[in-house]
Amino acid sequence: MSSIFTKIIQGEIPSYKIAETNDFYAFLDINPLAKGHTLCVPKQEIDYIFDLDDSTLMELHLFSKKVAKALEACIPCKRIGVLVIGTEVPHTHVHLIPFQQEVQMAITSLKLKVDPEEMKTIAQKVSKKYQEQNP
Ligand code: 5GP
Repeated sequence: MSSIFTKIIQGEIPSYKIAETNDFYAFLDINPLAKGHTLCVPKQEIDYIFDLDDSTLMELHLFSKKVAKALEACIPCKRIGVLVIGTEVPHTHVHLIPFQQEVQMAITSLKLKVDPEEMKTIAQKVSKKYQEQNP
């Protein structure tokens, strides 16, 4: 069975999309630790990040860097934190978290409730910035 992220990538489940390439997809986390919390995933459905081949692993990080640059230009934050856990969804994903306080980097911290309209606005803003920075 396809992972929930594969369903998102294929458009079967809606997402607040930030960026897409042939091999990668970025979208807002539905239960964010901070506004703009984004997940970067390879389209190839592999559970564990260190099972990716070297090239895909490297490209995932370079893709995440580009998304992080767009995020930091749009979301007031101390910096973009990077987290990889992967115990909830068995499809490799890099969390990018625009944090103000270090506690927001703890996956066990209370998740924010962000209004869908605001999620949409954030996604549109960051997506536009990503496109400007990566024409
Ligand atoms: P992890 O597997 O790294 O512990 O976390 C999985 C992340 O995926 C969580 O932060 C969770 O909120 C997010 N997530 C789970 N299901 C969905 C979904 O259907 N849509 C989105 N946008 N995020 C999801």
